[in-house]
Amino acid sequence: MKNQQGTIQRILADNFSVVPHAKITYVGWLTKESIKKRNSSIVIEFTQPEMANAIIYAGFLWEGLIYNCQLYDRSCRIKQCLRCYDYGHIGTQCSAPQKCGYCAGGHGSRDCSVKGSPGFKPKCALCGGIHTAWNAACPARQKEMQRVEKAKQLRNHYWPIPPRRTASATDSHNKTGPTLSTSSSDDTTGPAT
Ligand SMILES: [Zn+2]
Ligand SMILES: [Zn+2]
Ligand SMILES: [Zn+2]
Repeated sequence: MKNQQGTIQRILADNFSVVPHAKITYVGWLTKESIKKRNSSIVIEFTQPEMANAIIYAGFLWEGLIYNCQLYDRSCRIKQCLRCYDYGHIGTQCSAPQKCGYCAGGHGSRDCSVKGSPGFKPKCALCGGIHTAWNAACPARQKEMQRVEKAKQLRNHYWPIPPRRTASATDSHNKTGPTLSTSSSDDTTGPAT
């Protein structure tokens, strides 16, 4: 997000009545910024779980409107490797041979020479079906989507609060950084209906 510090200052000012002593370490769109998109989520990282919980409970003020917030749990998103296209890990953690998402050949999708050629039929790198490796019709993707749905149902609504040790400990930075996402609009025309 452009002007990270300015945005954080504005968020803290807007939400002062709910979280007067909050510290925010990060704010950003959940997905890449794009002009076309009408709706997007933002992720805000607080240093203290209590502050994130207060916003989840009370709602989040943003440009004069109030938005619902949820605890942001990374396991509630589809995780697909861009190297071998299998699910459950990402490219930097991958030790499998590289595969093409268009034709399942042993090259990167970017270097595919057959995609888009006349009569080209995609071949899934995961199941061998006639679709690209990220297609919603793929049984492997459907399995991953089921996992995500389950994870969403099981996720906590609020961050666990660690027992208080010393007064100074409550002010220390939480390493994992509680995050939450809130539905918001990145378009001045307002949220799409
Ligand atoms: Zn992989
Ligand atoms: Zn290819
Ligand atoms: Zn498939």
